Amino acid sequence: CGRGGHRGGQTGVLMRGHVQDQELRELYQEVILDHHRYPRNFREPPHATHRAEGVNPFCGDRVNVYLVLDGDRIREASFQGSGCAISTASASMMTDALMGQTREEAEAMCARFLSLVKGEKTDKDLDSDATEAGDLDALAGVRQFPVRIKCATLAWHTMIAALHESDVPVSTE
Ligand code: ZN
Repeated sequence: CGRGGHRGGQTGVLMRGHVQDQELRELYQEVILDHHRYPRNFREPPHATHRAEGVNPFCGDRVNVYLVLDGDRIREASFQGSGCAISTASASMMTDALMGQTREEAEAMCARFLSLVKGEKTDKDLDSDATEAGDLDALAGVRQFPVRIKCATLAWHTMIAALHESDVPVSTE
């Protein structure tokens, strides 16, 4: 039957699209798992000028973010804490990305990251940001898992609290 054959062809196209998505997911997971196993900037600097604490009770993630500011510029960003792979990887990538940024650039980066993981950006926006965001793009996949968004954004909310010298611990609740 000719019609059956035609439908088979369409299925083939769909399958290829599926495989690409799968590959993308695996690639992203590898980046996330690498940051989870070998977190960058995992330390408490003795000379931190700004610090804040964050908790995500939905998952049990805890993070302390430390910043060393020189005037308006972040000289050093680091963190400590315990949590799931997503929360640790996000904090690790964030601290890498913050080095050398001004306070204003850090806040803009946070806003971009939040819209990335919440899925408020189009694919076109993501493409144009790709080189800038680097590893952070790996976390765009969490938008498919709403419960995980809090894991991915915890470190960022905590970093903003540190910048604003807030003594109130951040909670995603
Ligand atoms: Zn988590």
